[in-house]
Amino acid sequence: MTRILVVEDEPSIALALEDDLRREGYEVDLAVDGEEACRLAGADRYDLYLLDIMLPKRDGFEVCRYLRSEGVKAPILMLTARGQESEKVIGLELGADDYVTKPYGPRELRARIKALLRRTSEAPAAVFRFGQFELDTARCELRAGATPVPLKPLEFRLLEFFLRNQGRVHTRQRLLDAVWGQDTHITERVVDNQVTNLRKKIESDPENPRHLISVRGIGYRFDTQSVTER
Ligand code: CA
Repeated sequence: MTRILVVEDEPSIALALEDDLRREGYEVDLAVDGEEACRLAGADRYDLYLLDIMLPKRDGFEVCRYLRSEGVKAPILMLTARGQESEKVIGLELGADDYVTKPYGPRELRARIKALLRRTSEAPAAVFRFGQFELDTARCELRAGATPVPLKPLEFRLLEFFLRNQGRVHTRQRLLDAVWGQDTHITERVVDNQVTNLRKKIESDPENPRHLISVRGIGYRFDTQSVTER
């Protein structure tokens, strides 16, 4: 059974969410402030976190950072206030996967939750090798030899997508849809930024990448030549 932790301090919203998600067949726990959220959370405790930003004790950003620092890989969907563009950016930077703007329709929220859960469960685990690196999707780990290379959740998913679809050219929009989720309202620029971050971690010369290649006027391609799947 899929377990969701709802972190929301406004009782009417929290109860409506809980009700709606239970009817969808999810097992739901509720945390009413940031401290309770951190206490309940754990590496394999929940399949998804629905996280409000304005919370008593510890806000949603702090909770998000804490979860990622504790090794929680489950998707985090943030609830942001309308017009707070900066909140979305900070949230995504801290490791959130997506956000929904309040007030949201229950249908939109359900669709986002399904999309996030699908993304984390669809592909069988694999170990991909390229150069001196190994990406282990079951352990959500990138290693250079025996040394783990820290990746943010978005970087991990982007790299995994490239490796699963190696040798093909992907437009920025395609990458946004596949890695960030459909109808996210973020710009293609975000893709370039993440590619730059990723190159710093996997390329010996990030200015002249061997693996993560720019295809002019189109997008990006992950070079297959040195990639093997086990
Ligand atoms: Ca709130």
